[in-house]
Amino acid sequence: MIKFLKSIKALLEGMFTVFKHLFKKSVTLQYPEELPNLPERFRGGHTLKGCIGCGICQQVCPCNAITIKKSGGKVTSYTINMRKCMFCGNCQYYCPVGAIKLGTDFELATDSNKELLNELIETNESEADKE
Ligand code: SF4
Ligand code: SF4
Repeated sequence: MIKFLKSIKALLEGMFTVFKHLFKKSVTLQYPEELPNLPERFRGGHTLKGCIGCGICQQVCPCNAITIKKSGGKVTSYTINMRKCMFCGNCQYYCPVGAIKLGTDFELATDSNKELLNELIETNESEADKE
């Protein structure tokens, strides 16, 4: 009998919890139709603009994810290996000219290894073309 009463109590508690949440605003989103409101300091995919090629970001990256190639003092290639990056934000924090930034792009999943090598110089050039 005690066992039976205990199970009724547990059932009522469960139903109470369900009813309590029935009229509350849903916390789930219908992704990808609905996108989340990202926090102000969210760190997502990188953008690069105005890089002077000093190499500081490369040195402070704890994952050794950044590769910079220069020719004649000009940056010719700036690649971030997204397989290694942990979005710590060090590159952005230490960049003396604010060239590298972690943006709000969070949809970075891919099944292609090649796409995980993020070449930011190409991105910049195409962005600059649009301006
Ligand atoms: S966010 Fe951190 S891990 Fe990613 S490239 Fe920048 S310094 Fe490296
Ligand atoms: S992104 Fe900033 S820290 Fe990195 S090489 Fe360019 S200027 Fe230097």
